[in-house]
Amino acid sequence: MSVKRKIFLIIFLFLIATGIFFLIKNQSSSKYIFNEGKIHGTYYHAIYMHPQGIDLQEKIEERMKKIDMSLSTFEPQSVISRINRNDDSVLTDDDFETVFKTAQKISEITYGAFDITVAPLVNAWGFGFDSHDRILQPNLDTIMPFIGYQKIRLENHKLIKDYPKIMLDASAIAKGYSTDIAANVLEENGCKNYLVEIGGEIVCKGKNTKGEKWKIGIDKPIDDETNTLNEIQTVISITDKAMATSGNYRQFYIKDGKKYSHTIDPRTGYPVNKNILSATVIAPNCITADALATAFMVLGVDSSLMICRTLPEVDCYLIYNDQKGSNKVIYSEGFENYFSK
Ligand code: ADP
Ligand code: MG
Repeated sequence: MSVKRKIFLIIFLFLIATGIFFLIKNQSSSKYIFNEGKIHGTYYHAIYMHPQGIDLQEKIEERMKKIDMSLSTFEPQSVISRINRNDDSVLTDDDFETVFKTAQKISEITYGAFDITVAPLVNAWGFGFDSHDRILQPNLDTIMPFIGYQKIRLENHKLIKDYPKIMLDASAIAKGYSTDIAANVLEENGCKNYLVEIGGEIVCKGKNTKGEKWKIGIDKPIDDETNTLNEIQTVISITDKAMATSGNYRQFYIKDGKKYSHTIDPRTGYPVNKNILSATVIAPNCITADALATAFMVLGVDSSLMICRTLPEVDCYLIYNDQKGSNKVIYSEGFENYFSK
């Protein structure tokens, strides 16, 4: 074979090889991977495009399970459970400290509507990890002295309490944090297009499977303890954002004709009984969105909107009952940008 023909053949083979390489690369990178499973007492879903088409489910779950061992009150050996039992040997870890510091910040912003020390009240009203009988009316005078985010602080990886009876509940913030962390796992592995959702709390980035922004439905708040009714109030289009919704339409009970919700006002000790039905918050991260959504359920429509306006890059969509009993919506100005066209 002449030298010229050899060179030509080598170039030809090289072109075929690179062509095949790009074909494989494009095929794997244009495919979305879908994972789902159970975590934090609920379900999670992740959909993402990985540059080499690698499935990251194990990595995501490993990280989420670690968060449970720090922040789940339903896990007897978790850091938070040991703190609640006043186990002297427990040291706080990074997950706990991040969530704790954010919780304290959100408590300040929301005038104590969000409060991680709400655990004894949550238990007393029959919603917590150590739930009391829902028939009993809690004696709030004996509980309220042990409620208040100013009564606890972190010192050298130790949680210091003013009273040993103080207990913590991170249920209203840990899921949002875990969603952020799952998104971090995807980021660290080079994913640029993804959506992660844990029990309705969402972080999304880039494009969906159709090459558009991610489309997310906001539930109609219909009283439904079975968690099976699903009607959509509206659909929004978002990307590079986090979103969380809190509502009292799934976690509640009725006693003597009165509805008792799982969101508790830490300042009064009573389950919230306002006309707000659900609060959806969009924020740069899910830990903030989750905690604020719970706080907004406590604060009600007017105060929530007022606080929302003072927070940069935070928007909210609130569904409430008007005086005639029909559902109404109100949202912050910036939320307009998210309605699906
Ligand atoms: P969901 O768990 O339905 O997503 P939330 O994020 O609003 O809803 O969390 C509600 C849980 O948070 C309650 O079940 C309780 O454990 C806890 N909680 C209730 N009221 C408060 C409050 N004011 N501040 C902090 N946590 C709360
Ligand atoms: Mg919440």
